[in-house]
Amino acid sequence: MATLKVRGIVLGGTNIKEKDKVIKLFTVENGIINVTMKGVRGDKAKLKAAKEMFCFGDFILEEGKNYYIVTSVDIINSFYEITSNIEKYYEGCAILDIVSKIALEPNVQLFIEMLDALKTLCYDDVSKFHVVDKFLISVLDAMGYKFINETCSSCGAKLGVRYLNLEIGEIVCPACKRDNCLPVSDACYNAIKILTNTDYEKLETVHFQGMVISQIHYLLTTNYIWRTGYKVISII
Ligand SMILES: [Zn+2]
Repeated sequence: MATLKVRGIVLGGTNIKEKDKVIKLFTVENGIINVTMKGVRGDKAKLKAAKEMFCFGDFILEEGKNYYIVTSVDIINSFYEITSNIEKYYEGCAILDIVSKIALEPNVQLFIEMLDALKTLCYDDVSKFHVVDKFLISVLDAMGYKFINETCSSCGAKLGVRYLNLEIGEIVCPACKRDNCLPVSDACYNAIKILTNTDYEKLETVHFQGMVISQIHYLLTTNYIWRTGYKVISII
């Protein structure tokens, strides 16, 4: 029987039968795959820690009838601490959910970005939304929607007052403003620039006013909805 070794992180799962679970794994090698974990919901199950969301490890899979079956897991990091703080937990779930929606094929860059984001969320004391917002900036940028731009994406004029045009997902000037445009204040623009240019491991040194935090989260999540059709999971 074919055996496969993959490095992956558990995005979620569905309970089946009495003690089995089908988990959704985002893997370096194969992108997102669904795999079965047998008997894993039993109290004494050897692999029970590996079925949980956020679990990062090397999974050994054996070909099964419908899905691959997990035969062993070498856990690298369970990111358990994320689940013990409700705000971190929701941000972590949002990141996993975004990955589950956009990772249509193997994507090493996205995998590394997700791991960096989860490590920061888990171990650092970062202000609310900063990790998921930085993650969204990177995801949107990789899709081709640059937020940080000194010129209007429609006419090329140098930008003073900025609007986010939701139809095209880019920043435009007042002359190119149409319906479905959200104003982007200087404070928001500068905050997004700082998040863009700050590495995850330095993110806990970044602090914005409460109003700016809400506004940039709204701009980024709204842009994401318009680009993908999916909402970002949120505690509020
Ligand atoms: Zn313009």
